[in-house]
Amino acid sequence: LGDAVPDDAEFEQILHCSDDHSGLSSVIAIHDTTLGPSLGGIRMRRYPDQAAAAADAKRLAEAMTYKSALAGLDLGGGKSVINADPAAPDRNELLLAHARHIQSLGGRYIPAVDMGTTVADLRLVGTVVSTVSSSRRDPSDFTARGVVAAIRGAVQATEGRGLSGLRVGIQGLGHVGRQIADLLADEGAKLVVADIDDRRAREVRARTGAVVVPPSDILLADVDVLCPCAAGGVVDAELAKTLTARYVIGAANNVLADPALAATLRARDIVHVPDFVANAGGLIACAAEVRGDDSDLLHRVEAIGDTTENLLRTAGRRGQDTVSVAMQLAEDRIAGARAAGKTV
Ligand code: NAD
Repeated sequence: LGDAVPDDAEFEQILHCSDDHSGLSSVIAIHDTTLGPSLGGIRMRRYPDQAAAAADAKRLAEAMTYKSALAGLDLGGGKSVINADPAAPDRNELLLAHARHIQSLGGRYIPAVDMGTTVADLRLVGTVVSTVSSSRRDPSDFTARGVVAAIRGAVQATEGRGLSGLRVGIQGLGHVGRQIADLLADEGAKLVVADIDDRRAREVRARTGAVVVPPSDILLADVDVLCPCAAGGVVDAELAKTLTARYVIGAANNVLADPALAATLRARDIVHVPDFVANAGGLIACAAEVRGDDSDLLHRVEAIGDTTENLLRTAGRRGQDTVSVAMQLAEDRIAGARAAGKTV
């Protein structure tokens, strides 16, 4: 949930995987399976060493536990990382070797797409692993819808108004950010956008009428909502003190460089919806794919708006920041399931 690396003792299982033939070096972290099998992406990235790869897998797996619990899913938290350049020529060999390790876990970890992997990669992994997700569709559409639902819920709970005329600054116009731009523009929001890839910014401007600003200006743009959809850690101690937006709600994982900054934002009356609440739409779509049932998928994704409203009201009542309250609500659900399991 921030830069701190959770202790190994907090995990059910951490697997350090290797394969001599392909040269695979990967880590699978299973944080908690109380609510169900762990689901989380396979990230492919070149890390400086195995310790850095394990640290990333652990941080991400822990966040998945909270994300699943708050989204009301019967899933736990897990994640895996392959320590390799995504452009490696032998990536298929690496993915297949990694898949054999996943399959050895007997379904305790269900893989999904993540940074450096694609839907086609998950199809390949699915030739070895019995249960995979995001092998049929890119979950980004649903992530975008969930973020917009979170913005709608937050603005409704705070000001009792809709999205029309709301000024939203979007940092990053990739798979998720550009769809958030389209959805918000359809509801009458006024957009300010930035991407380090100028072509993407120009495409969004042409479709939505958004004002394009340089990437260096987006975090302090004159907007109501800051919506980070690029890298994590963008709200650091300095920005938390100087931010002019009244809401921080985005898709990027670990938006706060340190979860303690949630208290700084609260003290400044800035409404912050934790990313593990706002960006759960993709996970909800992955869960539906695994269940083989899309019937209530959109409804479940839109329910992120209700979860957001409840979270903000609970945080207001308790006088606590939203990250602490969201984690407490997730832990309560897991503890309840654990207690029920023990009495059966
Ligand atoms: P993406 O790689 O498709 O898009 C990221 C975009 O951000 C790119 O267009 C890139 O050029 C731009 N960018 C990078 N640095 C920037 C900067 N400093 N300023 C402005 N733009 C910058 O990624 P995505 O799939 O759209 O995901 C966005 C974020 O949301 C990531 O942090 C990801 O981990 C998170 N997330 C994504 C999903 C999903 O379903 N795709 C789900 C949960 C969380």
